[in-house]
Amino acid sequence: MSSFDEADAFDAAVPLSQRAMAGARAPYLDDLNPAQRKAVETLDGPVLMLAGAGTGKTKALTARIAHLMMTGRARPNEVLAVTFTNKAAREMKDRVGRLLGQTVEGMPWLGTFHAICVKLLRRHAELVGLKSNFTILDTDDQIRLMKQLILAENIDEKRWPARQLAGLIDGWKNRAWTPGNVPASEAAAFNNRGTELYDFYQQRLKTLNAVDFGDLLLHVVTIFQTHNDVLEQYQRWFKYILVDEYQDTNVAQYMWLRLLAQGHRNICCVGDDDQSIYGWRGAEVGNILRFEKDFEGAHVVRLEQNYRSTPHILAAASGVIDANQGRLGKSLWTAEESGEKVRLIGHWDGEEEARWIGEDVESLQRGTRGLDPMSLDDIAILVRASHQMRAFEDRFLTIGLPYRVIGGPRFYERMEIRDAMAYFRLAVSPDDDLAFERVVNTPKRGLGDKAQKNIQLAARENGANLVDGARILLADKGLGGKGAVELRRLIDNIERWHELIRPVVMDDEDAVIDDGTSVQTRISHIELAEQILEESGYVAHWQNDKTPEGPGRLENLKELVKALEQFENLQGFLEHVSLIMDNESNSSGAKVSIMTLHGAKGLEFPAVFLPGWEDGLFPSQRSMDESGLKGLEEERRLAYVGITRAERLATISFAANRRVYGQWQSAMPSRFIDELPTKHVEVLTPPGLYGGGYGAAGMAAQASPSISMGSKSTLHERVADANVYNSPGWKRMQARSSARPMGQPRESRNMVIDATAISAHTEGDRVFHQKFGYGTVMGIEGDKLDIAFDKAGSKKVVARFVTDADSAGDVPF
Ligand code: ATP
Ligand code: MG
Repeated sequence: MSSFDEADAFDAAVPLSQRAMAGARAPYLDDLNPAQRKAVETLDGPVLMLAGAGTGKTKALTARIAHLMMTGRARPNEVLAVTFTNKAAREMKDRVGRLLGQTVEGMPWLGTFHAICVKLLRRHAELVGLKSNFTILDTDDQIRLMKQLILAENIDEKRWPARQLAGLIDGWKNRAWTPGNVPASEAAAFNNRGTELYDFYQQRLKTLNAVDFGDLLLHVVTIFQTHNDVLEQYQRWFKYILVDEYQDTNVAQYMWLRLLAQGHRNICCVGDDDQSIYGWRGAEVGNILRFEKDFEGAHVVRLEQNYRSTPHILAAASGVIDANQGRLGKSLWTAEESGEKVRLIGHWDGEEEARWIGEDVESLQRGTRGLDPMSLDDIAILVRASHQMRAFEDRFLTIGLPYRVIGGPRFYERMEIRDAMAYFRLAVSPDDDLAFERVVNTPKRGLGDKAQKNIQLAARENGANLVDGARILLADKGLGGKGAVELRRLIDNIERWHELIRPVVMDDEDAVIDDGTSVQTRISHIELAEQILEESGYVAHWQNDKTPEGPGRLENLKELVKALEQFENLQGFLEHVSLIMDNESNSSGAKVSIMTLHGAKGLEFPAVFLPGWEDGLFPSQRSMDESGLKGLEEERRLAYVGITRAERLATISFAANRRVYGQWQSAMPSRFIDELPTKHVEVLTPPGLYGGGYGAAGMAAQASPSISMGSKSTLHERVADANVYNSPGWKRMQARSSARPMGQPRESRNMVIDATAISAHTEGDRVFHQKFGYGTVMGIEGDKLDIAFDKAGSKKVVARFVTDADSAGDVPF
């Protein structure tokens, strides 16, 4: 099927009046500078816009699409426009609509490479031996399939893991190599079996009528290369081709574009070599540098004026990227004259960093530092690794600051977090059947549907919970083999974990711990959580699972353990999570955006926070280990992308300590910090934010209220002076922290929940909650109170978690 049935729809969709506008001056051209205008109006032949961040490349590209339609050069469905993300595609569609003063119907070919290729492949699937209803495998399926192949070939999966094969094959697909044309130089790959396994894998996919992500492009390129008639059809159909973020195209995408543009050569690519951040996924920055050779006579537009950021932000970004070798080098300028310097601040630890940013976001909302009040939509937090998001999510949930996570689920909604919490729930309450169902066969214990049904049956017949049901089933020998052994281990574990949670009855006075709490458990809840994750096999499950997501999931589990630190016990933590999830509304109001630096490409925000600038985290150790200097330079480009997302305010921060899996690790500030040009940076102390409070920042504020610029030369030394490292407070904190037994919460003074403080509240009572602050009781439902908190908004909380407002006066908060 290759007819273009959108054509008729277009004729009806575009009014004659609009076609008659062809050639008329359009207001959208007035918004452009002369170079942009030239790029928009040069409609025939190849055009390249190679320019720095914020210079209006995407704006010009969008105007060009509008112009093509306005002048009648192309119908909406004859324009092929490639963006990097679906979000960018949606925005571009909206913007074209606004420029044209109407919504654009159609533009079916505006989207990501993958989205466009799915459409093309559905039309021509039979040409590569597939049916048009093929399925697209996700990474998990892909790996599973490879594992099967490896086993079938009697290859030792431990030495030659499926994940490695997946990476290898993905890389080949990114280079547009089919099994038949992988070059001989790759013959040694995967123990000399790589090419062969690639072939088997492709055959297997065909039998399953399935494709993986890499295939979407590869198959279409193959079709274009082997069926000239099809290629010509599309060359004629797509009259104009436009590509944003061209610096991040890989070889397969590049070939795909070249094949399509060969005929008319009406291709316009825009990009910035300094923003190439997908080398790890096969992007070739060389594609953009070679454009003029590939498309002879190309009109090249260089844009130098940045319209996005203040001079300080621009200078800071330029200072960092200057350290990279082998760049084209571009000079950027802005007509803006004033603006805030880039702010730099060091914190004691990650929680402190999140707390400070939360406070700062609130003050930006109110209007601060001569800036107008900002909407939360104007504020973004850009992290290097997704596990960094947890601290912010927790903090924002606690203070009732609405946020959205872009490009992934929220922390507590992630699969691995839900699994881990199901184990915690079982340890707290073995009666929690839902939790049992969730994890009984995760990781795999050989307990399939049938075994699970039998457990349920045994439980039902005996009026027992599922754990006891399992016990009965085992006693009755209703289950055998590996499943029985594993199930026995699981229920024994649950019993033991539960036992470890039960309070110790203290008859020995010396055993009373010294922080005023009256309950002592046999083991700290943090140690217990770590034990549970280890002994259940859940950590090993992700260690062995070699999908690309595996390491990220392990990082998230470490984050989860870190989150526990703020609570006195597992129960308190689980209650906290269920309450915040319950309170989370899908309100459509303004929200702070939290996303990764990679996900922020092309976007802009008035205020941007860039936390976690520590060596190893950013630049990422993994990318430096894997790719050396090349990796470091890609990380530096990522720093450049991050800073240049900011319009008016950029704030960089780092923490001196991170807790990684129960261990405090001290971190060095990122080397990128010392590459920031000093005169464009303001080093902050957190003035009085926590004056007298518990945090390191509060101590620093007392110990060292002013910034010493003295003889220190590097920025992070100055931050150190201004903040914590050398202050008496720092040393005190350090001593206290290392003396603190594992698992004793650092903020125990704040978070201890007095179980004896149950008071009979009535509506209208003023109350105090350790996390949400002061509020008024609005309603009572069993043991839960509906409270309108002064700061955190309306929430449901368990009654014993609040005290009367009067008696809260001496609680340090
Ligand atoms: P990036 O490299 O980050 O993708 P970009 O070059 O695509 O940046 P745009 O996002 O198109 O830049 O533009 C940056 C900002 O500058 C936008 O807010 C845009 O509206 C504004 N802008 C671009 N060109 C002009 C112009 N000629 N006059 C006024 N504002 C402009
Ligand atoms: Mg852009």
